Amino acid sequence: MSGGREEFLVFGAPQIGEAEIAEVVEVLRSRWLGTGPRVARFEREFARYEGVAPERAAAVNSCTAALHLSLLACDLSPGDEVITTPLTFCATVNAIIHAGATPVLADVDPVTMNLDPAAVEAAITPRTRALVPVHFAGRPCDMEALTTIARRHGLKLVEDCAHAIETRWRGQAAGTFGDFGCFSFYVTKNLVTGEGGMVLGRDPEAMDRIRRLALHGMSQDAWKRFSDEGYRHYQVVECGYKYNLTDLAAAIGLHQLERLEANWERRREIWRRYQEAFGDLPLVLPAEPEPDTRHAFHLYTVLVDPERCGMTRDAFLGALHERRIGTGVHYLSIPEHPCYRERFGWRPEAWPNALRIGRQTASLPLSAALGDADVADVIHAVRTVLG
Ligand SMILES: *Cc1c(COP(=O)(O)O)cnc(C)c1O
Repeated sequence: MSGGREEFLVFGAPQIGEAEIAEVVEVLRSRWLGTGPRVARFEREFARYEGVAPERAAAVNSCTAALHLSLLACDLSPGDEVITTPLTFCATVNAIIHAGATPVLADVDPVTMNLDPAAVEAAITPRTRALVPVHFAGRPCDMEALTTIARRHGLKLVEDCAHAIETRWRGQAAGTFGDFGCFSFYVTKNLVTGEGGMVLGRDPEAMDRIRRLALHGMSQDAWKRFSDEGYRHYQVVECGYKYNLTDLAAAIGLHQLERLEANWERRREIWRRYQEAFGDLPLVLPAEPEPDTRHAFHLYTVLVDPERCGMTRDAFLGALHERRIGTGVHYLSIPEHPCYRERFGWRPEAWPNALRIGRQTASLPLSAALGDADVADVIHAVRTVLG
């Protein structure tokens, strides 16, 4: 059998080291499973990695929670509009809706696949209050253009950094340009804690509010209530949520953070190998990283144009699956989902770049856990399928 794999190559399988396993066991033995000292350390160390002061980081239990709380902290009112990209995960748009605002989509640039600043400008109305750019696949958005637009129109800026922990734009970390940056530690992301997220913010009062809202709206660090400092009374000062990260999850994150750079190097190497191996195929390959920026290499996405490739994207995914290669789709454009079409009357054709990318895109495995043989299997399978 030529090129056949026995084991299915799971898309986005995380790389878990012995250090994480030992730390989780230690948490279990300590019997402090909830929010506690390891979360506090994880916040400090994550902030240091992103080059911001420790009090600017607040851990939560998902990026969805981070986006929701950040948008709540923007104090939006019904009818207020928030501009985002149609080429994103549904959580970006859901968070805008749950924060009480109306999402407005601006199309992406066909090459960078990030929000096109000109399309953002064109989508601004007197009701626009905030922008939520997504650093797609880990490639930074044009932060000079977006921060200029935000400043000129008095808009809040909330960066969706779910793909972008290692992303830098002219030396500065993604997630530190605007009012808030929201990160994901979901199982397929560059740093995993099972479920988890982080908010970086610049306004101390807003960060206090986000910490409070993440824990029922209680007035002080409620996790200290059960510590050896003695019982502390708390007051609920605002109706909040249950969005706190656990020490069990932070235990994994602390060691993932230590290997973040090594894992980034590994993904960069795999990304380059794919670029070289697929150069002669009829696929559209991802754009090379821009100079003076750092791409996080979270996703490796190719476009399968049926006219050039002689097969549809879904046939391509199916053929890879038959060869036991797991794939992903990032993303079917947001207005293709019935929920948003029905609610906002959106027609996918109104955002043609996102529509076309969403129908042609395929994500190949790009995890630091891939061995050289796995990468060779992916390359062989893609070349065979298209050859
Ligand atoms: C994964 C992801 C999210 C949601 O992250 P969770 O931690 O799973 O809530 C939001 N936005 C984008 C672009 C994502 O890829």
